[in-house]
Amino acid sequence: MIIVQNYIAGSFETEIETIDDIGPATGEKIAKIPRTLDANASISAAKEAKKDWANRTIEERAQWLGKIADAIEQRKSELAKVESLDTGKPIEVALNVDIDRCIKNFRFFSEYHTHISENEYRMDDATNFILRKPMGVVALITPWNLPLYLLTWKLAPALLMGNTVVAKPSELTPLSAHALCQILEDIQFPKGVVNMVHGFGHEVGQSIIEHPDIDAISFTGGTQTGRIVASIAAPMFKKLSLELGGKNSSIILDDADLSIAIPGVVRAGFLNSGQICLCGSRILVHASIYDEFMKEFIPQVNNFSIGPVISENHMQKVLSYIELAKEEGGEILTGGEQSGENGFFIPPTVITGLEPDSRCSTEEIFGPVVTIHTFQSDEEAIAIANNTDYGLAGSVWSKQRGMAVAEKIESGMIWVNTWLHRDLRVPFGGVKDSGLGREGGRWSLEFFSQPINICVMD
Ligand code: NDP
Repeated sequence: MIIVQNYIAGSFETEIETIDDIGPATGEKIAKIPRTLDANASISAAKEAKKDWANRTIEERAQWLGKIADAIEQRKSELAKVESLDTGKPIEVALNVDIDRCIKNFRFFSEYHTHISENEYRMDDATNFILRKPMGVVALITPWNLPLYLLTWKLAPALLMGNTVVAKPSELTPLSAHALCQILEDIQFPKGVVNMVHGFGHEVGQSIIEHPDIDAISFTGGTQTGRIVASIAAPMFKKLSLELGGKNSSIILDDADLSIAIPGVVRAGFLNSGQICLCGSRILVHASIYDEFMKEFIPQVNNFSIGPVISENHMQKVLSYIELAKEEGGEILTGGEQSGENGFFIPPTVITGLEPDSRCSTEEIFGPVVTIHTFQSDEEAIAIANNTDYGLAGSVWSKQRGMAVAEKIESGMIWVNTWLHRDLRVPFGGVKDSGLGREGGRWSLEFFSQPINICVMD
C-alpha cells in the first residue's frame, strides 16, 4: 500500500483523514492519500519561498528545470509504472506518452527562456523597457487523464518565470505527483517553491482557488468545474487560464488517403481509452467513401488495445451514454458493454445511426466511444463539426482540401492528416466552452508573468 503525503515547505506531511486510491485495472485499493481540507499552510510556504525564488535569475531557474528533467529521465521506468498503476493505461503508453512528455516539458521550457522577445521600444527621446515579473503564488489544478504530463506542462513555465506553486492533482491519480515531489526532495530543489496538496477538488481545490494570496490559477478539467473556478476567481481579479472539455470531430473528406486516415482516426478516437480532451469522438465520413472506410475501420478498432477507464463512477457514466445512444436510435457496431471481471474496462465502442445533434454526438463522453456520421459536402461537414458547445480540437483528412476546411472549424487546434502531433512552441487551448486563454511556448511564459513597462527619458 502506497502512502501519499502532502509536500509543504519541503517536508512530507500526513493528514488525519485519508481517501482511498483505487487502481482502475483491478478495482483494488492501491494507495491512501491525505484528505486535506484547506491549503493555508501550503500557500504560506509558497509565499515565503517566493522572496528567494522570484529574485533568482531566469538562467538559474532554467538550470533547475534541466536538473528536474535529468532526474525524471533517470527514474522514468519507475514513474511510468506508478502512472500506469494509477490510471490503468498500458505501461508503454505511460512511458512513451506521459513520462516522455514530462521530460520534454521541463527540457523545452529550460531552453525556451531565451525566446522572450520585444524587451525594448525606442522613442525619439526615451526608451521603454519591458520587464516580465512573476505573478507570485500560482495554483495548478489538474485532472486524472494525463496526470504528470499536464501537471508538468504548467509547472515548468510557472517555475521558469519565477513563481512559486501550490498544486493539487486529481484525487483519483495522485501517485506520480507524489513521486515528483520525492524527486524534488532528492535533488535538493529549493524548499517551498513547489507545494503539493492532495484531497478532493471541492474541498482543498476550492480552498486554493478562494485564497487571497493565490495570484493566478491554471486549471485543466471539465467545463462545469471551470465555471465554478471562473466564478470564484473573476471577482478577485485572479489571472486565469482554463483548459476545459471538448467534443472533437475527425473529418474524412472524399479525397482522403484512407491508408493514413483510418489508423489516424482510430488512434484519435481511442488512445488513452478516449480519455484525452483532444480525442476525436465524432467521426464524420463523406458518404461516397463510407462503405470503404467502415470495412477497414471496424477491424482496426477491434485490434486497438486500450486500458480501463479511470473509475467505477466514470465507467457508469460512459455506459449510461451508450444506453442513451440506443434510446436516441443509435446502433452499436462494436463494443458497448463492460468487459472483464475486475477493473473498469469498456472495449472500443462504435455507434452509428445517431443524428449529429443528438446528445451522444454533442456532449463530452470522455471514454472509448465514438459516433459515426456521414456528410455530402465540405460545407455540411463543417456545419456538423461546429454544432457543439465545445471548440477544442479536431482533425481533417484530405489530400487537397484539408487546410481550407480546417480554417472554418471553430476550435483552438486542428490537425490535417495527423493527430496529436505537438510542437511545444504553439498555442494550446480552446474556444467556446472549451476554455479561456492559451498555454504553450510564449503563451505559457506570458500567462505565468506580468509585463511591467519602465519608460526612461534620454
Ligand atoms: P474535473 O473538472 O472534475 O477536475 C479537474 C480538477 O479540478 C481535479 O483536480 C479536481 O479535483 C479539481 N476540482 C474539482 N472541483 C473543484 C473546485 N470546486 N475547485 C477547485 N478544484 C476543483 O475534471 P476531471 O478530473 O474529471 O477531468 C476530465 C475533464 O478534464 C474532461 O472534461 C476533459 O476534457 C478535461 N481536460 C481538458 C484538457 C484541456 O487541455 N483542455 C486536458 C485534459 C482534460 P478532484 O479530482 O478531487 O475532484
